[in-house]
Amino acid sequence: MDFSSVTAQLKAHAERVYPEECVGAVVRNASGALEVREFQNVSPEPRRRFLLSARDTLVLAQEDLVAIYHSHPDGSDQPSPEDLAQAWEGTWILVVPVRGGVAGQPSARFASRERIRSSS
Ligand SMILES: [Zn+2]
Repeated sequence: MDFSSVTAQLKAHAERVYPEECVGAVVRNASGALEVREFQNVSPEPRRRFLLSARDTLVLAQEDLVAIYHSHPDGSDQPSPEDLAQAWEGTWILVVPVRGGVAGQPSARFASRERIRSSS
């Protein structure tokens, strides 16, 4: 899966909300192109976790969802065990590492039941 067309948007979002975690989605629009949907991180601990509001989750359920992305402020570019456990099966998990306010290249991992099992 090639996310290069949306990488700059993901990095910009991650840098804008640093040192908190950003959260959003990559969806496929009617013409088949990837589009970014930025959401608000409603977690009570936004520097360490991300959470979508119930309303945004409903909005997302009506989209052609390809990936959920979030950032790791001064953390790893790899999804945490919790990220994997929360992942929407059949979608990609994109993690944007941000060091000192500067975003790096996002990592991409496909969330399937087998993958989640094997990583635990
Ligand atoms: Zn994470």
